[in-house]
Amino acid sequence: MPTKIAAGNWKMNGTRAALEEAHAIAQVQSGDAQVVICPPATLLTSMPEGLATGGQYCHPATSGAHTGDLSAEMLADAGASYCITGHSERRTDHKETDADVRAQTEAAWRAGLIAILCIGETLDQREAGETLAVLSEQLRGSLPDGATAETLIVAYEPVWAIGTGKVATPDQVAEVHDALRDQLGAEISLLYGGSVKAGNAAELFALDNVDGALVGGASLKAKDFIPIVEALA
Ligand code: 13P
Repeated sequence: MPTKIAAGNWKMNGTRAALEEAHAIAQVQSGDAQVVICPPATLLTSMPEGLATGGQYCHPATSGAHTGDLSAEMLADAGASYCITGHSERRTDHKETDADVRAQTEAAWRAGLIAILCIGETLDQREAGETLAVLSEQLRGSLPDGATAETLIVAYEPVWAIGTGKVATPDQVAEVHDALRDQLGAEISLLYGGSVKAGNAAELFALDNVDGALVGGASLKAKDFIPIVEALA
């Protein structure tokens, strides 16, 4: 059985004041679901004991002359056990390619981190009927060989549903997740991301091949995130 995972991606949000939210999230009764928060890297070492954490990106190299970047080893040293790779905001803002994402995913594994590899289609691609082909191509290009349920989580995040309040319909999510299950096997956890909230989480988690969520905006406040965790647990 894939592990159930409720992951929060805080993106570029949160100063030390946000640690209060992390402490409240750390208290949630999550049953057999794993809770993970990916805060800005500046907060990693201050996150509460017992709350699993992740980075939001890592540079492929271990160390070196890369001003402003962070290695997977640094994230691990700061307490992270996960790292998001291939988020669409990185693909857009930093022109990250599938090859870059593949190198980052390999770096995450090298440092002992579990990669949360994100893939997703744009609205134009969906409207052109290319969704499954685009996702399959992204996986082919960005997923290194040798992935296991212990090293990889895949997050399907339709670009048009991120931060827009437009959640994909259960039918749309089911179609993609069923295809991903066929492609990735029975054990890899498959998360949906894109405007997940307390009000739509249960309906998404009821789908056969949805093992949890990667949550942006609704993970910033414990009062919003905890009901999502509870819907999964
Ligand atoms: P929202 O939940 O804010 O739509 O963000 C989703 C996301 O990008 C998580 O990585």
